Amino acid sequence: MNQSVLPRRYHRLRDVLNRRQTDLTVLLEDVHKPHNFSAIIRTCDAVGVFSAHGVYTEGDVPAFSETAKGSEKWVDIHTHPDLETAVNKLKRQNFTLYAAHLTEDAVDYRTIDYTKPSCIVLGAEKWGVSDRAMKLVDQAIYIPMLGMVQSLNVSVAAAVILFEAQRQRLAAGYYDHCRFDPDVRDRILFQWAYPDLAKAYDEAGKPYPPLGENGELNN
Ligand code: SAM
Repeated sequence: MNQSVLPRRYHRLRDVLNRRQTDLTVLLEDVHKPHNFSAIIRTCDAVGVFSAHGVYTEGDVPAFSETAKGSEKWVDIHTHPDLETAVNKLKRQNFTLYAAHLTEDAVDYRTIDYTKPSCIVLGAEKWGVSDRAMKLVDQAIYIPMLGMVQSLNVSVAAAVILFEAQRQRLAAGYYDHCRFDPDVRDRILFQWAYPDLAKAYDEAGKPYPPLGENGELNN
């Protein structure tokens, strides 16, 4: 017999999921340092980003550090074998790709309409967004830098841009209603509330059982 999740936790999970934005995401290109990767995922959680994408051509996917504060459980993270695969997948989902990159043709990040499906591409700590990626994206964007140092830490740049996207989406009412189809929402909610049980049902190829009003299992 499985123990039911507490009603308060269930309602919190449901409210957070109802605010998740399926059409706002990030693509991290070789962002290797665990604290940067973790900080970006934590920001995604805070902004309401449902899924994040990464490509690691050099080395392994970074481990999560304490900086993530467990946010990796609530952001769906996809790693892709290469850049082209990631970009093609995102473009098929109608995303416009914005590379955070200081080039001459980059536009101020505040001029973009992030209420449309938007993917922010962020580059490696040392090298920035690659030339290869720059050929695949739709637009370069920059955060104005008025100091002595030429760039921000990658997780800070991600936060600045994602919170502008959140500001626009709040104003447009995007957080006021659930962005998922009800059956998809219920599936994810079950996975969030009962991760081990969800895995067991998946392995058995069985559909998840319906939950009660307060998330209780009808054992
Ligand atoms: N030397 C690298 C370069 O030339 O791009 C610096 C990389 S920076 C530390 C890491 C990432 O943060 C960049 O690839 C970019 O995605 C983002 N970034 C940092 N500062 C930025 C800014 N002012 N505008 C846009 N993106 C920025």
